[in-house]
Amino acid sequence: MSEGWDPTPGTFPWPPANGMAMSAFHSSDTDLRWDDPALLATGPYCEGKGRSNSQWDIVGVNVYRSDTGERGPYFRVNRVPVMTNFFRDRTDVVETVDEVIDWNTGWIFRGTAPNQLGVWRLRTRNRPIVKRTGNAVMADSPFDVEVKIDGRRVPVAEVAGLASEITLDTTSVWDPSTERFIEFTPPTENSVVTVTYYWLRGNRLENTLDRRAKVFYRLTTVAVDPFGTSPTGLIETPLEYSEPVSPMDSEKLDYIWREAIRRNRWILEQGGERVKVFIRRMTGVRCDCVWDERLEEYSKQPLNACIKCYGTGWVGGYEGPYDIIVGPAEGERRVTQTPNGRRLEYAYEVWIGPTPRLSQRDFIVKQNGERYSIGPVNRTEIRGVLLQQSFQIAYLDTGDIRYRVPMGIWSGCRGPRLGSRTPRTPPARIHLRTRWGPTIRRPPWRRRRGRSPMVVSRGVGPPCGS
Ligand SMILES: [Zn+2]
Repeated sequence: MSEGWDPTPGTFPWPPANGMAMSAFHSSDTDLRWDDPALLATGPYCEGKGRSNSQWDIVGVNVYRSDTGERGPYFRVNRVPVMTNFFRDRTDVVETVDEVIDWNTGWIFRGTAPNQLGVWRLRTRNRPIVKRTGNAVMADSPFDVEVKIDGRRVPVAEVAGLASEITLDTTSVWDPSTERFIEFTPPTENSVVTVTYYWLRGNRLENTLDRRAKVFYRLTTVAVDPFGTSPTGLIETPLEYSEPVSPMDSEKLDYIWREAIRRNRWILEQGGERVKVFIRRMTGVRCDCVWDERLEEYSKQPLNACIKCYGTGWVGGYEGPYDIIVGPAEGERRVTQTPNGRRLEYAYEVWIGPTPRLSQRDFIVKQNGERYSIGPVNRTEIRGVLLQQSFQIAYLDTGDIRYRVPMGIWSGCRGPRLGSRTPRTPPARIHLRTRWGPTIRRPPWRRRRGRSPMVVSRGVGPPCGS
């Protein structure tokens, strides 16, 4: 049973069965549930062995998340293996009450800033500062924090959440009762300055726009390594053996609809066009073309000519390329005269199966080198589970920055990966096995054979000369 990439059963524990991701009905929190991998492991029967974890000493379950789609990159969200059948993935915002600002290390400016005399600006120990409500929205209002000098609350002029900088309000205030201005009293070395604020401790779940549709989880089983070869002493299910689950799916597909997807796929294999798709990043390392910690919320858009992020704001820009098959081309190629010169207008509707999950601003590369943007995606669902995606693709002018995204996988200009484990294996096969059920192997005398072009093109025709 070592057929290509299949390892021998028994070299790793099977993933937990029946993993489900669902909304916690609170913010963008997601609840994940699964069956105890030590007690129940179900799966395809192969080579006389069903799935069983009985020989393993199970430690727990690791939860991995991808914000970009089912093909990753995935990064682990739990710190230690989860030893229950439940995990809540949430945006991790905590409150810090009355953090003391040190006179020597806590201040950026103590009224001595060059060209900005009188500016009192401090930095909190934890960053970034976020608002109390919402999904870790960066703090930008003076009311998002509470600064006290010797126990008395003082007004704040400005908060830069991402840089965790707070500027005190030093303008004098008119007191109508005494008819005098109350001047700002700067703190001294002996004053006790404290700040109360909320900050993002770790995880932030994407939930704006259509981003949650591209969030996927994979669950792996962690067991004690009996071979003693692992540096951690633990052994874990390879990530690609765990089925991706989406918090957007209300149910699991049953065999009938899995078969429907398979038949649609068959249609695509006959008449569809083989193209590559790039999926726009949602998270990762911020590109420095947009990086301005203090003013990011108000600063410019990512540079359109930046070849580090290709205008996305995230280093690397896009995940991929992945192979997909889209419905056949049909549309007129119209060359039009515009104020900026002549351009080719060419757009038409295509469809694909349920994966990879696509959305606006992803793009396609055809084998003739043309690149096409992806328009709004129409998702056909059955009982809340995605079956098919259709969308319009439109030709991109050759001057577009997306023509600069390299076709080679992980060339030098791609950004670093998040997390420690992001295995790279042929995604198409993984996907076929995990999402659409096991590959069925027929004995040779029952294999489908034929001489029609369709059968031959699928590689199951008679060998040459027979
Ligand atoms: Zn950039």
